[in-house]
Formats: sequence, structure tokens, C-alpha cells
Amino acid sequence: MRLIRFFFEGQTSWGMVEEDIVVGTLGMGGPRTLASYRVADVTLLAPAEPTKIVCVGRNYREHVREMGHDFGGDLPSEPGLFLKGPNALADPGAEIPYPSWTSSLHYEGELAAVVGRRISQVSQAEALAYVLGYTCALDITARDKQRSDLQWFRAKSSDAFCPLGPWIETELSPGDLALQTRVNGAVRQSSRTSRMIFDLPAVISYVSQFMTLEPGDVILTGTPEGVGELHPGDQVEVEVEGVGVLRTSIA
Ligand code: MG
Repeated sequence: MRLIRFFFEGQTSWGMVEEDIVVGTLGMGGPRTLASYRVADVTLLAPAEPTKIVCVGRNYREHVREMGHDFGGDLPSEPGLFLKGPNALADPGAEIPYPSWTSSLHYEGELAAVVGRRISQVSQAEALAYVLGYTCALDITARDKQRSDLQWFRAKSSDAFCPLGPWIETELSPGDLALQTRVNGAVRQSSRTSRMIFDLPAVISYVSQFMTLEPGDVILTGTPEGVGELHPGDQVEVEVEGVGVLRTSIA
């Protein structure tokens, strides 16, 4: 099932897509609508209304190496986490401003999971049963400020630093999906989710030991190697196998 959050004639709704028609509705806190629409006629919105966006850093070995950290040759025993606030969400197709305070804006294409039911202290074996589905994320990062600021707050959680979408795919197994990031049509990142150091069940179980995840919360699972600079006018595509393509442009 493919779930979208969309805007049409002044109303924000959730819908279920079949072929090119939005046919159903789901609650998820928004107003309900029972009408049907052509997908082409509605404006797609980021498909989540999170209280927080939990992100994993350094979760693909080759990306860890390209960032100059090799864990001394050993893999970490625990995932490295950070948060983005809901302010960071951006819709599919959004045009993101290049902030004046950074001179090194980077793309990081990632698989994202959207939480379906409240999660607290779950095992790895139970974890995926609490996930509503999967979508594409672009973890926009001000790399210079990530290095110079004491915390990653500004570098990672500024407004519109988390484009998400274009929809949630519910019938998907996240363990071994192709993940690709293209900038102006050129492939910059190409990997598989099976190359994560901590897979999604491990991340969810770990986070849930100390933080309750609410329905709508989003988990970004980390980026593979090939990260790099964005420039004004760039067109970025993040594609996750079985989900689709998230398009973002840099103003
Ligand atoms: Mg990232």
C-alpha cells in the first residue's frame, strides 16, 4: 500500500494511492476526506507528522571511511544518533534555500522508516512490526558547521534540512534495498541497505530503550559513501528500491 499526505483545495489529507488515483483516507490526525482525486491534481506533502526525526550517523562503513573515521578498525558497539526537529521536514519537490551561513551544504541520501505504533523498549525481533512503512529522505547537512559547531544542531536540523517522500510504501522489507542519490542526473551514491552497520531492527530496538517513538516519528538510517557538495540550482534525486524517487532542488 502506498500512502500519501497531500494538499488539495485548502485541505491537508492522507490518502491511499492505487494506480494514479488517491482512493482512500486514513486518520493519522488530519482531516478526513472520502473523495477520490487524481494524484497529478494534488500537491504531495512530506508523508509524516513526526514529534521528532531520529537519525543514525556513520552507519555505512565506506561512508565512515570517507569521513576520516575508521573506528580504529573496529566497528562501533552502539549506533551514533542525532535528532532533527519537525521544522526540518520539506515536501517532495521542494526548493530548498542555500543558507547564507554555510559554504558546504552536502547531500546524504537515506532510507527512512515511519513509525506506525508507539514504540517503547522493543526487541529487535519485534521492531519492524511497529513500522508503518518506508520512504526516501535527504539528510541535508552543513558539513562545515557539523565540523565547527559544538553540536550538530544547526548543521543537521535547520529548516528544510530533511526532505522526505514522495510517499510511504507499507509492503516492503527494508533489509536489502538499492539506494541511490543523483545530482543533476549523475549518480553520486549507490549502495544497498544491507551494508548498514546497524540494521533497522537494531536501531529501533536501541532507540526504544531510552526514547519512546510515537506514531509518525521518522527514523533516518544513515547514508552510504559518496556524499558531496550541493550548489545553487542543483537537482537532487534520492531513490530507494521499492519506494520511488524523492526530488529536491537547491534554490
Ligand atoms: Mg545522514
